[in-house]
Amino acid sequence: MKYSLMRKKVVFVFHNIQDANWFITFLQFIRKYFKIITLEDFESRNKNTSESTPVCALTFDDGYLSFYKIVFPILKDLGIPATLFVSPTRILQEKNFWFQDMGPYNSQSLKKIIEDYLKIGNGVTANYGCKNILKSLKIYDIEEIINEYKRRHLTENANYQLITHSQTKEMSRSDVITFGAHTNNHPILANEDDATALMEIKSSINELSTMIGQRIKYFAYPNGIKGLDFGQREINLLKVCEISLGFSTLNMTYNKSESHYEIPRIGLSYGSTMFTLSKIIMGGHWDKLKGGESEKKQRHKIRKMIESYR
Ligand SMILES: [Zn+2]
Repeated sequence: MKYSLMRKKVVFVFHNIQDANWFITFLQFIRKYFKIITLEDFESRNKNTSESTPVCALTFDDGYLSFYKIVFPILKDLGIPATLFVSPTRILQEKNFWFQDMGPYNSQSLKKIIEDYLKIGNGVTANYGCKNILKSLKIYDIEEIINEYKRRHLTENANYQLITHSQTKEMSRSDVITFGAHTNNHPILANEDDATALMEIKSSINELSTMIGQRIKYFAYPNGIKGLDFGQREINLLKVCEISLGFSTLNMTYNKSESHYEIPRIGLSYGSTMFTLSKIIMGGHWDKLKGGESEKKQRHKIRKMIESYR
């Protein structure tokens, strides 16, 4: 088993960890095989070709409150480093991301609103998931659709689910936490025009830097699928903004020849240590086996369907 992990470099991505015991078990398991390093070390180790110890880095997207409550105390206790990718305006305004708000919505009602808003035929969204449909739109349209749902169904704003400003500042002063940017509104960057894509990236980096008084060097693309959620334009924008590492959600271990602006990450949120190990060893084959390609296929179909009504 050790042999297959030799020379491996892995970046893990987590979102909303609710179970402290699961996370502690994961850490105990992973520490047997990997050295857990900071992204700063990850970056500098890239230059060292004789590296043979398996190393990994932990990243967390979106900045869920559960990170502060459950994960941060564990990391602090054990002295384990991690990076948190957040959207500073959301934190300042205490506003959830669109996908958090829509979580509990009735999908039939939401689809009706989407069909009306896009002026597409009744029932044409029947075979698609709401989240995948919204991921095919611009952030402006997504927010309008969510607002229309709230109006029509007299829905109150959901409780704020992300970390607060003071928690962000507190964690930024800790030795174990590094912050990276994740846009301001969590758009699917590839859907946006040039100006919006630049603004979403640049302002999230600048505002986060002001908030915590540190230079921001890392960025995670929202949703993170190359070719679907981001492309060469976004990579160029990160370079312009002096970001040194950009992270995708391609489910694979890292290989030195890969670009620093599309670093793959293995996503975990549940499962046994065997499951974790399988994901590390199988890398990209995992998605094919488990049907992880389906979001891609579905979103291509949705895009075509919407375009056919224009
Ligand atoms: Zn995200």
